[in-house]
Amino acid sequence: MDTEVIVVGARPAGSATAIALARAGRRVVVLDRAHFPSDTISTHLLWPGGVAELSRLGALERVEAVGAPRLPIGMATSDGVTVRGRYSTVDGIGYGMCVRRTGLDAALVTTARAAGAEVREGSKVTGLIVESGRVTGVRFTERDGVERQLRAPLVVGADGRRSTVAKLLGVQEPYRRQPSGRACFFGYWTDAKTEWRNTAIQWRAEAELGTAFPCDGGLLLCLLQPPESRVADFRGDALAEYLRTIKAMPGLAERLRGGELVGGVRSATGIESYFRRSSGPGWALPGDAGHFKDPVTAQGIRDALRYGRLLGEAVAPVLHTDELDATLLAWERRREIDCLEVYQWTNGLAAGEPMTPLELELFRAARKRDGLTTRLLDVYNRALRPAELVGPVRGIALTATALARGTESRSAVLKALSRQVRTTVSNALERRRVRRHPLPPSTGAATDRPTRR
Ligand SMILES: Cc1cc2nc3c(=O)[nH]c(=O)nc-3n(C[C@H](O)[C@H](O)[C@H](O)COP(=O)(O)OP(=O)(O)OC[C@H]3O[C@@H](n4cnc5c(N)ncnc54)[C@H](O)[C@@H]3O)c2cc1C
Repeated sequence: MDTEVIVVGARPAGSATAIALARAGRRVVVLDRAHFPSDTISTHLLWPGGVAELSRLGALERVEAVGAPRLPIGMATSDGVTVRGRYSTVDGIGYGMCVRRTGLDAALVTTARAAGAEVREGSKVTGLIVESGRVTGVRFTERDGVERQLRAPLVVGADGRRSTVAKLLGVQEPYRRQPSGRACFFGYWTDAKTEWRNTAIQWRAEAELGTAFPCDGGLLLCLLQPPESRVADFRGDALAEYLRTIKAMPGLAERLRGGELVGGVRSATGIESYFRRSSGPGWALPGDAGHFKDPVTAQGIRDALRYGRLLGEAVAPVLHTDELDATLLAWERRREIDCLEVYQWTNGLAAGEPMTPLELELFRAARKRDGLTTRLLDVYNRALRPAELVGPVRGIALTATALARGTESRSAVLKALSRQVRTTVSNALERRRVRRHPLPPSTGAATDRPTRR
């Protein structure tokens, strides 16, 4: 064997896996076709729980040096109702950060190298070596175009949504998927409002959703997530439609006032959230390669870091033993069980619909009740499960208040309630099914069948 682990992809999932393995004394080679620093189509908000993951990897100091401000305050505004508050701390960290991917990913690559991983940039993986049903290596090319091989007992595909490794394994078809109801259009602005540079803000207006997150370089990231049905409006002149949509959210327009758009408007459309089979004999898929959630709740980088690190930590002691495949499977199960509820909650927000009267009532209650805003923010922060935010008692109280308010028609409130109850029940049933039943079989090049090592 040439090395002990080959990791394909060097961004959040790949670097995190490599750091954990290298720290445990394992030899790791990371192959990425990119040359760092390198950008990618992704916004980059991290809640405190994501910042804590950087800290666990020993990458936080390098990431902070990129220069993004700390964001200890979260704020959301819809229909004139504004909630504003702080997060619970995770590992003592109570602030989010929004670091452009060029700097964030380069800091992760540097941390992986410092931990002892060999990162080979400009190396594109084109094939897998599969022997007796086990993945035992990769084929890849470098700048000279010559195909090379590298062998190891474990190949980790951390190569993103369009994962080559998943394709080569035949597991690219998700076993659970949800097309997003929203698209992404984003750009960077100079920021004239220094007093707001500690706050991450979201605006909702009807079905429109816009955000402003202060980031490094003195810039402000403004991401719009209109309903997917509006993508056609952006097709002709994306910039004009981007600016028109900002105007439809006066609070967002005010936040951007005095600043200038730097560079163009970038987009991601046709987004789908999913779970793919993510482990088998000699292989695993952390990060987007195996599981993706719509960007509306900004969870992807945190989960890529966390489950990359957990994968590395879990396999390091068993790499050369018969326990490797069972360990990979246990890691995959854990990620699925941990992430399913957040996936379901994210899909609800990604549906591209206006806030319901009950969601608005929750905002109103949070304005009055100390601690409720923090609980709301903590769902994004992964310090609170979505189901813990509105239990049956609070649900009934919110419904009663919404009905008594009389500003929404009774039927709109009751319709929202009935839909909420149906979604809550069906999501809970899905989670129960998942806890009770094993993962569906994978039918690729290297399947679930136990193989001799
Ligand atoms: C529009 C948009 C906005 C988002 N906003 C946020 C946000 O605000 N906050 C957040 O937390 N998440 C966000 N996400 C999600 C986030 O981008 C991903 O979850 C995260 O990048 C996953 O990291 P990863 O390491 O798994 O994959 P990636 O970051 O996609 O990295 C994959 C790497 O693999 C390499 N690679 C691919 N194929 C090969 C090959 N054949 N050979 C060698 N190398 C290869 C690529 O070069 C790349 O460097 C957003 C996503 C999108 C699309």
